[in-house]
Amino acid sequence: MTNTFVTRFNGYVKRSDRNQLNNHESGLVWFTGLSASGKSTIAHNVEKELFKQSIRTYVLDGDNVRHGINSDLSFSREDRRENLRRIVELSKLLIDAGILVLAAFISPYQEDREYIKNIFENNNFIEIYVKCSAEECERRDPKGQYRKAKAGIIKDYTGISAPYEEPRNPDLIIDTENFSVEDSVKIVKEFLYEKKLISNVSKWTNS
Ligand code: ADP
Repeated sequence: MTNTFVTRFNGYVKRSDRNQLNNHESGLVWFTGLSASGKSTIAHNVEKELFKQSIRTYVLDGDNVRHGINSDLSFSREDRRENLRRIVELSKLLIDAGILVLAAFISPYQEDREYIKNIFENNNFIEIYVKCSAEECERRDPKGQYRKAKAGIIKDYTGISAPYEEPRNPDLIIDTENFSVEDSVKIVKEFLYEKKLISNVSKWTNS
């Protein structure tokens, strides 16, 4: 739905002004992968380390968002689409506010990820595939959800009763079966540095 009679007010302080004030870029780092692959663990640890370096970040985390702004949505195909649409809108606001957004969402469908990519293309968008086999995720099962999904208590569970389509061309793949949490975090940080999203960080090795 579009609001035909609503006119935008263009703020006087622009994203570029906020980026300059912060001394770093804002953008969207999108973590996709199976539940328990490590998206939240990596995103929150990256945030913790960047915070120490005075980088303004915010983690949008699948489970947290579904407790708040998206608490009315189910895991049906339609609602998963709406879930991401709202997250995209939230991300736009945060990026405009000068924040480096770290978004950790299963986002299992290629079509949905393409939609996100197209919106933020050439605009500091990075897609990271947090790769881990379904067997290992099931073994980890930190929230006991795979067990419940297998027992049929949780429906439409990605990897069990709903599909996960592997990203075709992610900017970065982190294989969390073969890297420790510490190494995974380091890989992401170095990648962000390489992409100049956080190029102002001078004391890189100190964190
Ligand atoms: P997700 O957000 O993808 O659902 P979580 O971060 O909640 O996953 O859980 C991932 C689990 O896997 C945690 O218990 C974490 O300690 C473990 N783990 C093992 N190796 C890694 C790694 N390299 N990166 C991230 N998490 C890992």
